[in-house]
Amino acid sequence: MIVSKFGGTSVGTYEAMQRSAGIVATDPERKLIVISATSGTTNDLVALSAYNLDSTTREGILERIEKRHVDIIKQCGESEKLEKVFYSQLSELREHLDFVGRDKRWKDRLYAFGELMSTSIFVEVLKKRGIDAQWMDSREVIKTDSTFGNAEPDYEVIKKKAEKLIDKNTTYLVQGFIGSDIFGNTTTLGRGGSDFSAALFAEAVEANTLEIWTDVAGVYTTDPRIVPDAFQIHEISFDEAAELSVFGGKVLHPATLKPAIRGGVNVRVASSSDPAEPGTLIVKEAKKKPAIRAISLRKDQSLLTVNSLQMLHQHGFLAQLFKVLAEHKISVDLVSTSEVSVALTLDTAVNAANKVELTDSVLDELREFAEVSVESDLALIALIGNDMQKTSGLGGPLFTALERYNIRLICHGASSNNLCFLVDHGEAEQIVRMLHDKFITE
Ligand code: ADP
Ligand code: ASP
Ligand code: MG
Repeated sequence: MIVSKFGGTSVGTYEAMQRSAGIVATDPERKLIVISATSGTTNDLVALSAYNLDSTTREGILERIEKRHVDIIKQCGESEKLEKVFYSQLSELREHLDFVGRDKRWKDRLYAFGELMSTSIFVEVLKKRGIDAQWMDSREVIKTDSTFGNAEPDYEVIKKKAEKLIDKNTTYLVQGFIGSDIFGNTTTLGRGGSDFSAALFAEAVEANTLEIWTDVAGVYTTDPRIVPDAFQIHEISFDEAAELSVFGGKVLHPATLKPAIRGGVNVRVASSSDPAEPGTLIVKEAKKKPAIRAISLRKDQSLLTVNSLQMLHQHGFLAQLFKVLAEHKISVDLVSTSEVSVALTLDTAVNAANKVELTDSVLDELREFAEVSVESDLALIALIGNDMQKTSGLGGPLFTALERYNIRLICHGASSNNLCFLVDHGEAEQIVRMLHDKFITE
């Protein structure tokens, strides 16, 4: 069984839907199809969630959502039925927007409209192609905790639900990104979470392959939007791909590979507009193991520096610091320490799955025992590869190449698959281009 996931651009227009349906049709093993919202729709829904949105802006966004979907529906033929479904979803969306008790739960229910709308249309496109897919509500299977916006799936329950509800001889179309908690509230898996949903389904149904169909022909040596010369990686290990996605490689949601590794599922990333291209295979062990395979970039990083007010050699400082961060559910990425100070990086990007907000209450609590400073507008660059902690001769050329840039923090040694450092936001893309040019060869 193959689980195939199509991202937003792969279902963003009628033509794109047709191409994606064409891919589904070429292999009868593709029995579980996971799709995202049409490209741009989740961003629109996020914009609609803004507090105090004026009615002109709100109507403008709703019109954009309507046009995007109705344009597709009109080209589907026999569009009356689909229009009826879509307009009922749209009026439900309007009602939801009028609801006054807005909280995180309300937001997740709002964001779910994107995938619910796209799947309602795509199921018909599949039918027209002769694929008798059954529409299924992912919230019945993807059971999560109640961390709205970035819910944690419960694998055991998901497995049981899948066993009960999914018949391996039927083809299903399901929504990526959404799930539900034990109370039945809609939850979401974080931005870009459809990849993760697909991996969860793949694990649960014991699929042998998970296909991620997107707008690029696989995982590249770096984001091709930043470096047009970046090239496709034919085979990459799970460990490297996981680091690449965690450190900003948007092509995969950072949590995607965990279920795939657990379930022994092969992963393939490929382009839905160019399906003949082989794409990238993500495997347990890659045949080639270059020291530097790829470069990732993650923007909107902040650096929190905490200096202990206590004497040198005092114990318990780190424990005290992390206790405060843990109590506020603040996720820390990199850590660098000296005897009396600690520097930590935090992800402050609006779309980050674990977006951090350093509120005054966190800072005040830290100030009770430490001096605290926060720097923002930074970016994290990660070199991804193999045996990096052992590769001699890497440091010299790298530091020489970075000579004229301001490097705020370096992390090396914790992972054999990455070496990363923090730079000024404004210089980040330039550094990625320079490093790609110097260190990545085909
Ligand atoms: P989808 O909607 O299909 O999930 P995304 O936009 O989430 O697609 O992810 C694909 C995008 O990821 C590409 O268009 C590319 O700009 C970006 N990207 C970032 N890093 C990489 C990388 N190393 N390889 C390929 N694409 C990357
Ligand atoms: N539609 C969701 C988003 O844009 C999930 C996804 O596309 O993977 O974040
Ligand atoms: Mg994505």
